Amino acid sequence: MSDSTFTFLATSDLSSRIKGRSVLSKNYAPGTSVGWVPANIGITNTGHIAEDLPFGSSGDLRLLADDESIRQINGIPGVPDTQLVFSDIVKNDGEPWSCCPRTILKETLQELSEKFGLSMTASFEHEFSEKGLTTASHPFSFLRFLDHGEIGKTLVSVLEAAGIRPECWLPEYGKHQYEITMEPEKPLQAADNAVLIRELTKQVYRAAGKKITFSPVPFPGDAGTGVHIHFGLYGPAGEVVAYDPKAPGRLSSIAAKFNAGIIKYGRAMTAIFAPLSISYDRLKPNNWSTAKIFCGVENREALLRVCPTNEIGGKAPDKQFHFEFRGGDAGANPWLLLAALIKAGMEGIRQDLPPVDVVAGEVDFTDESLSFESLPDSLSSALQVLEGSDTVKSWFSKEFVETYIAVKRQELKDLEGKSFSEQCEVYSNVY
Ligand code: GLU
Ligand code: MG
Repeated sequence: MSDSTFTFLATSDLSSRIKGRSVLSKNYAPGTSVGWVPANIGITNTGHIAEDLPFGSSGDLRLLADDESIRQINGIPGVPDTQLVFSDIVKNDGEPWSCCPRTILKETLQELSEKFGLSMTASFEHEFSEKGLTTASHPFSFLRFLDHGEIGKTLVSVLEAAGIRPECWLPEYGKHQYEITMEPEKPLQAADNAVLIRELTKQVYRAAGKKITFSPVPFPGDAGTGVHIHFGLYGPAGEVVAYDPKAPGRLSSIAAKFNAGIIKYGRAMTAIFAPLSISYDRLKPNNWSTAKIFCGVENREALLRVCPTNEIGGKAPDKQFHFEFRGGDAGANPWLLLAALIKAGMEGIRQDLPPVDVVAGEVDFTDESLSFESLPDSLSSALQVLEGSDTVKSWFSKEFVETYIAVKRQELKDLEGKSFSEQCEVYSNVY
């Protein structure tokens, strides 16, 4: 039983805005649910219901608390202690609702386990920037680390109280940019953590009188801001299945197929992992984000990076061997982003795709003989590519696809007439 007055039943919408309703904590019990409205899933990132949704003003759903995902939000100066519980959007009889992003991830994980005998670990890496400063900013500097020393200390204790295990806290390369990483967890918990960490970090900064943004382009012309997903593939009980020291890039046959699916469907799922108009300014060569759709060993321009292993002192590489998906940003709902990644990987295994090409060393992106596919160059073309992919659409319900496209088109429409810098300003206040 929590000391907090309220328990907030939380979901995150298609534009990655966390929302929900609260009940009094003294009335909360496992199985608690509150009413919810279908059209809420069609609210844009700036906060109004999109046109052309398959939902209107009628209909009811419920937000059903997942008691295993309770989190305590304690220790943020000026913010009352609160209990939060991640909740699934269900029909009134408790049956799953096909547009709930968290349910989509849960069902995807069930399929990964039951049909493919695989389990995963995941961890989301978040970058963000402090806004409104005019002082100089040096990459990775100890000075900037110390500048945010007190905040870092509060942040770590708030995250730990909320059941998140932070791993690294660092000044990043970009202007006034920082990064917080988390220890690997089971995938659902990792995505729940990603939903929560952004809000908690913003609140901790707000309490210190500072403003931050996770927007993919915090300052036009400067480094972009990504949300990278580290993931490891394992057998049902955590057995090593992805590592083969003799294979190209050390990818086992199952890992090579899984990653081949991500590369094959990377273009068609771009509107899911890069869901904002400004996301496409980040996804360019020489930005250390994703220059083209390829899998590269230790390559920070790849959509999929084969991560290094720490073998100092004879540490074994097999269990640590894992991958990093570098295309995502904070506009993407973490449950949906991870689900899409896994669905693409499962597609690679289902179709028995030939092993993904693993690129070693630097890549010259001006080389016209390169065979890598390019990412779409804008959200509107990414939406068209998504609409043209029967395979990617088949991963979701028809209602979900219609809603997702309607929300994203509405967000584009809402920005019409705004310059790129004005769009960046809008999103630096949203994310
Ligand atoms: N800021 C880069 C991005 O937009 C990532 C830099 C790095 O951590 O490798 O994804
Ligand atoms: Mg980084």
